[in-house]
Amino acid sequence: MEKPDSTSYDPLTGLPEYSSFLLSARKLLPNLESGTRLGLSITRISNYRYINLHFGDEIIKQILLDFKTSILSDNPDILLSARVYEGILLCLLRLDHNISAKDCKNTITRLNQSFMKKYAVQKQLHVSLHTGFYIFDYSGQRIEQIVSNANLAMETAEQKQLICHAYDEKLDLQNLKEMDIIHRFPEALKNDEFQVFLQPKISAKTMKIAEAEALVRWFPKDGAVIYPNDFIGILEESGNIGTLDFHLYEKVFSYLYQRMEQDLPVVPISLNVSRRQLDNPDKFLRKIQALFEKYPIPPSFIELELTESLSMQDYDTAYKFMISLKNMHLKISMDDFGSGYSSISTLANLPIDILKLDKALLDEAEYFPKKRIIISTILDMAKSMELNTVCEGVETELQVDFLKEAGCDYLQGFYFSRPVDMETFNQLLEQDCA
Ligand code: C2E
Ligand code: CA
Ligand code: CA
Repeated sequence: MEKPDSTSYDPLTGLPEYSSFLLSARKLLPNLESGTRLGLSITRISNYRYINLHFGDEIIKQILLDFKTSILSDNPDILLSARVYEGILLCLLRLDHNISAKDCKNTITRLNQSFMKKYAVQKQLHVSLHTGFYIFDYSGQRIEQIVSNANLAMETAEQKQLICHAYDEKLDLQNLKEMDIIHRFPEALKNDEFQVFLQPKISAKTMKIAEAEALVRWFPKDGAVIYPNDFIGILEESGNIGTLDFHLYEKVFSYLYQRMEQDLPVVPISLNVSRRQLDNPDKFLRKIQALFEKYPIPPSFIELELTESLSMQDYDTAYKFMISLKNMHLKISMDDFGSGYSSISTLANLPIDILKLDKALLDEAEYFPKKRIIISTILDMAKSMELNTVCEGVETELQVDFLKEAGCDYLQGFYFSRPVDMETFNQLLEQDCA
């Protein structure tokens, strides 16, 4: 006697429900030959709720049934399919060995496009479809992992507004790494794992340390040091950068205050300001003010390094922000000048004191006369505008000689010193003063 079908079906589409899909996949997969090429696709009608609210149940039902007939039915390669919930549909296919992710992407894009076009033309209805898929050679993978990979690709397709996107292992690892940083951040802050390193800026006139830049280093309790390029961007995206910046600023204020109290040599220190601080400039200003109240040091000992991208994203806000900083007697340095898309016009209008030339400008300038012409011209222009100048990334004696000759005020780079911990920096200062 035939066993009754235990699959539960979705009443709207007649497709299996997700729980049944999982059960069937768990039975089916182990019976496949190892190495069988499979593909799992997840398609989402991203504006499902909108269509349902504005056009009603009937049209949604029609779209889902239509999708089932035109895309899911009559395809002999489909092993299993399901409706997960609302507008999410998935199917597992057996694929030919010579089919690549690119072939799949082309086919799915073409199918989705013609589906969307049909609704746009016949019903003046925009159906927004996004598909993520994962192609793999079967070797015992769990169905949950397969679905999760395709789902990540679908979410990426939605974020990037792509009709179709393939799962990419590198992207997944990157995502996991980012999640790990965000997850570990609060505990790391509590454990005091972030330290301020200082890199000297040398006066071209005296060749002594005139200032320093504060650069963060992360020393995890159980692992090697992590450099800012591996977490600053992630913390900017996740909205945590403000907390980290002020955690470090406080260390710098406290350091300067204690040194001054003890009459020890000190130099002004510049702090990096994340572009995200412009999301709430008033809060930033209040917190800086509070630091000056807690650690009463002269404002001339604090300089703020702002990047060009900060001033480019919202000019009016950036301008007001900078004026408020100037009113607090803080010096403003334009960081990374000459990297990416510099706009010389920002120089004309923004109240900056120091121009900091990006390392990329200086790289190998000793071998490229045109690079030297660019640097000299920028330095001349800055001088005419009464701006001080700093060149970062100074690595060779030839660069030092050229920059001194070209009239740069301060030099910063590995040639003089790498960023060092505060204690080592104090020793450098004391040697300079001796
Ligand atoms: P940045 O502000 O442009 O800092 C200069 C970077 O160049 C630093 O990298 C420094 O170590 C490096 N550097 C200095 N001299 C040389 C040199 O001669 N050769 C080479 N190859 N590199 C040199 P670092 O410390 O890894 O920082 C990277 C970026 O992370 C910084 O770029 C800055 O944008 C950001 N950052 C660092 N600390 C903080 C922080 O506390 N808050 C925020 N918001 N950003 C920070
Ligand atoms: Ca900087
Ligand atoms: Ca820089």
